[in-house]
This record gives sequence, structure tokens and C-alpha cells, in this order.
Amino acid sequence: MNEKTERPIAFLDLAAQQKRLGPALRERVDAVFAHCRFVMGPEVTELEQRLADWCGAKDCVGVSSGTDALQIVMMAENIGRGDAVFLPAFTYTATAEVPLVLGATPVFVDVDPNTFQIDPDHLRARIRAVREAGKLTPRAIVGVDLFGQPAPWEQLRQIAQEEDLFLLADCAQAFGADLNGKPLGREATATTLSFFPSKPLGGYGDGGAILTDDPERADLYRSLRTHGEGKTRYEVLRTGMNGRLDTIQAAVLLAKLDGFKQELARRDEIARAYDAGLADVVQVPARVPNSASAWAIYAILVKDPAEREPLQARLKERGVPSAIYYPLPLHKQPAYRDHHDGSSLPVSEDLATRILALPIHPELTDEEVSRIIAAVRG
Ligand SMILES: *Cc1c(COP(=O)(O)O)cnc(C)c1O
Repeated sequence: MNEKTERPIAFLDLAAQQKRLGPALRERVDAVFAHCRFVMGPEVTELEQRLADWCGAKDCVGVSSGTDALQIVMMAENIGRGDAVFLPAFTYTATAEVPLVLGATPVFVDVDPNTFQIDPDHLRARIRAVREAGKLTPRAIVGVDLFGQPAPWEQLRQIAQEEDLFLLADCAQAFGADLNGKPLGREATATTLSFFPSKPLGGYGDGGAILTDDPERADLYRSLRTHGEGKTRYEVLRTGMNGRLDTIQAAVLLAKLDGFKQELARRDEIARAYDAGLADVVQVPARVPNSASAWAIYAILVKDPAEREPLQARLKERGVPSAIYYPLPLHKQPAYRDHHDGSSLPVSEDLATRILALPIHPELTDEEVSRIIAAVRG
């Protein structure tokens, strides 16, 4: 192999991304340095409006991270001790961490073996079991739009309504995705976003947002993100937190939003190239019907768990990075297993042993995509 084909490929290339965004990015950030309103500057409000407009939500509240977005939404519902929050076992740790921080108990639900999204039938069974045990009060369902594809929202809404539970969308990985021709952002009472740099709409630091159509909840979220403040800064109405979105991050995200549609299209193009090049050798991601993914993660499944390590080693040798999301389902994590009832969640447990994510950022060239396909093929 010559030197060129050996050049390592990046899993995420923020330097190339800055180059592509060009001077517009610097202009946005320089504007913040000029006006010096580093906390709650005008860019925060502008970004909130742009995000709400993107998906047609009535309101958007910029916050400090996707995790803090989840916390603010759950604090607003007074979720705490004795409450059960239902969420998928196969997701990022933050989804389960927040109910625990608030004193509530996460109840882990298994996922669909093809789409990796929460399994509505298992969710019903888990709610029933918690009600029958009588120890915890079912309060909320967190649907996670895993890897960039939508959770089964229609069914989750129906279950939430029948069971009288609050429905929250953890859309940290999927802002930019569509379901039934409509952008995600209005599938639940509140939708939380993350702007961690590796998310499809990523900033250059931590950041997040909450979307809602409910003006009273939006006011509550605004109060909670600033220490529970009232109409004036020195009126404290409730226990809140310091959960504001940084002005510089808002400026970066405004610059990135201008090219976001093209980025999503490029990610989808790469996903299709992977499908075409790999479907005969590994299991490529099944699509959620009537949806368009934001492609936060493109994850393949190997047939046998024993194949994964050698495959990862071969990729590495060829300069192709890969990652495992997630090596352990949450109910098996040391921090969470004591809060789990011990039941097995076979799909999540199986996926954790066979899943492997390939790079899918918009900076990948066609040549790099071909190299990645060739390396996976062996
Ligand atoms: C990234 C992520 C979060 C947390 O977002 P941060 O901005 O990193 O706090 C929450 N849920 C899911 C599913 C995520 O992928």
C-alpha cells in the first residue's frame, strides 16, 4: 500500500470542519468578543429562534448541555424520589444518570434488534410490572432518538397517554432528522438537544437546548436554567441551576446551521455508500420507516461477537477508526446495576457485543469512504 492510502482517517475532523465553514464562523465568534455579552448574549436568543423555526416548535430554550436539558425538563415535572422513569437500556449514560441525580429510579427497557430504538411492547410490560410491584410511581417515559433515527413516537405517545405519563424526547443524537416528512422536535411534550461537538449539530464545547410547544413549560425551563429566578434576577422562585447556553457556543452553532442541511445530505450519501458496499458482509443499519436519519452514528453489526475485535484491529491497521456505542447496556453498568431489578434485556445485551460504528462525518471524501468499505470487507 502506498503512503496515501495509509493516511489515517479521522472519526471526527473538527479542524477540517472549521476550514469548510470558512470566515463566517470567525465573524460570528468575533462579534461576541466585540459586544462582550458572553452570558445570555443576543446570539443565544437568535439561535433559540432558528432552532424553533427549524422544526416548527413554539419555543426553544438554550441550555448548557444535553444532560442539563434533561435535568431541567425533569425538574420542571418535579420528578424525584419514589418516581419511575422509563428509558431504553441501550443509550448514552446521561439518559439514565439524570433521573438518579434527581432521586428517581430509571427503569430500563429493551430495544428493537433492527432499529435499536426502544421496544414499545417491552415498555408496556415494564410499566405494568412497576405498577404491580407497587414500590415506585410511574411518572415519565424518555424516548431516545438513537444514532440519529427517530424513536417509535406514535406508539410512545399512545402509551404515555394511556398510562398518564410525561413524555420526553431525548433528541441529543438526532436534531436534523425527519419523521413522516416533519423535522424532529415536536414529538413529545419536551424535546432535548445536545450540541456536544460530535453530535450532528455540534458546537465547539458543551451546549444544549429544550424545544416545547407549551409556553408555561418554556417559562419554567428559562427560570430553572438561571437558578430558579423570577421576573427579576434577585427573586428566587424555585431551586434551579446554572444551566445557560454560552454565547460563544450559540455563535458557533449559528454559523454551523447555515450549512447544516448540506451536512445532513452528505451524511446520508455516506450512509448509502456504506449500505451498498457492506450489506453483503455485515448487517447494515435498518431504517425506521418514513424517516430520514441525522446519522449521528452509522453502526454495523457483525454476526459473531468474536469477529468484532479482529475487525477493529484490521481497520486500525488500515488507518480506519471505529468506535463501540455502547460496549455495555446501562442496566449492566456498575453505577446503575444496583438500581435495576435484575431482569435480562437480551437485545441490548446482544447488541453491545456485536455493534461497531464507522466514521460518518461530512468531511469524509469519497476516496476515504471507499477505503473504509474496502477495509471492512477485508
Ligand atoms: C450526548 C447525549 C446526551 C448528553 O448530551 P451532553 O450535551 O453531552 O450532555 C444525552 N443523551 C444522549 C442520547 C446523548 O447521545
